[in-house]
Amino acid sequence: MTPPHVGEARARRAPTSERWGHLAWLLVPFLFCLGGAESSVSAGERGKPEKGKKAEGKAEAKKGEKDPGKAEGKKGEKDPGKAEGKKGEKDPGKAEGKKGEKVPGKAEGKKGEKAAAPKPGPRKKKVYPYEHIVEKGDSLSQLAERYGVPAKAIQRWNQKKIKEAGHLRAGVKLRIYSSVPVRIKRRATYIVKKGDNLSRIAKALNVSVEHLKAMNNLKGSTLKARQKLSYLLPGPENRSESVGRPSDGRLINGESMPAGPGYTFGRRPNIYGTNESIGLLIEGIGSFMRKYPDGPTVVVGNLSRSTGGKLSPHKSHQSGRDVDLGYMHKAKYQPVESMLSTNAENIDLEKTWSLLEIFLDTGKVKAVFIDYKIQRLLYDYLVKKKVKQSKLEKLFQYPRGKGAEALIKHVKGHHHHVHLRFLCPAGDDRCAD
Ligand SMILES: [Zn+2]
Repeated sequence: MTPPHVGEARARRAPTSERWGHLAWLLVPFLFCLGGAESSVSAGERGKPEKGKKAEGKAEAKKGEKDPGKAEGKKGEKDPGKAEGKKGEKDPGKAEGKKGEKVPGKAEGKKGEKAAAPKPGPRKKKVYPYEHIVEKGDSLSQLAERYGVPAKAIQRWNQKKIKEAGHLRAGVKLRIYSSVPVRIKRRATYIVKKGDNLSRIAKALNVSVEHLKAMNNLKGSTLKARQKLSYLLPGPENRSESVGRPSDGRLINGESMPAGPGYTFGRRPNIYGTNESIGLLIEGIGSFMRKYPDGPTVVVGNLSRSTGGKLSPHKSHQSGRDVDLGYMHKAKYQPVESMLSTNAENIDLEKTWSLLEIFLDTGKVKAVFIDYKIQRLLYDYLVKKKVKQSKLEKLFQYPRGKGAEALIKHVKGHHHHVHLRFLCPAGDDRCAD
């Protein structure tokens, strides 16, 4: 299975000083215009294509010289809306498979096989074009923080859409170029049924009444049967379901982890998970990238097959809740783009712990598998950080032995990667541990 295709533009590495960093963001569209952009399926369009994309693609082509939209419009066949609209392909996997060398997983898989010893050095920053649909409550400063770019840059990329600073209208699509992975929301439609009311619909769709009102320009609360309501949701419309146990289970409507900035898929892994797993991963890596904008890149290994079930050589990874992540390594071992045997010499304890902590703090982690020797390194690191003994005991088996009760367990082979298992998603009643 190939990971979904997403345009990948390698922007030049931003200089370290913040001032120059900001300038670099303003230049991102130029880099796209100058041929920096290889392609441009925005994050919001990674799923199934929506209707009306063709028109949007054209509309964008009319825009001003420096607008990144124009660059894409000119390229025509590379415009995500147009291209997808024409092809009418609903399976992103298929469309991407054709493009071959642009599939990050594939590309890196090939690289990994040839280049046995990557040259040390900082990672190349990937910048992705996102399509952010404004929702009620969004502000420029919030978006700037979430996407890790200056508010001014967002304004500049969307000059016509943001007429007055700070005023964003719900439903408006913004272009944002970011090197932080973000779980993008897509527009979905709900058709009102007889007897429906706003609060019941809002509850069923897991949005607020205010969200529905703003997205649909509703003044009052009267609805007509068969009326169409727009709303935004993270992930695909067809909800996933995790069925059975991780070692004897399956996955319904498995969601493919999209390519994105800040992470790489290593060597052709199976990257399907529950909607919740994918959301947690993107948001978790996003938090890590906001904290450490210069990385390193997170290596994402196998999740599950699209339908779950046996995934050799793993015992688990069957129900969309398991994921392998690379450890974080010191700068002189960078870039690390596939799983690397990890030890006291090469591990970056601060960043490894930081990434783990981000996931643990979500409260959605069921179990973590980490080699006992690496548990010791993390344990000693946290003792030095004055973390309470009672907390350490809940977290680690070390020093109580490999059979001890703890969230983080020793399982053979986990010196290459951390294995995270998420809890059963709420509502997945057939999911088991
Ligand atoms: Zn694993």
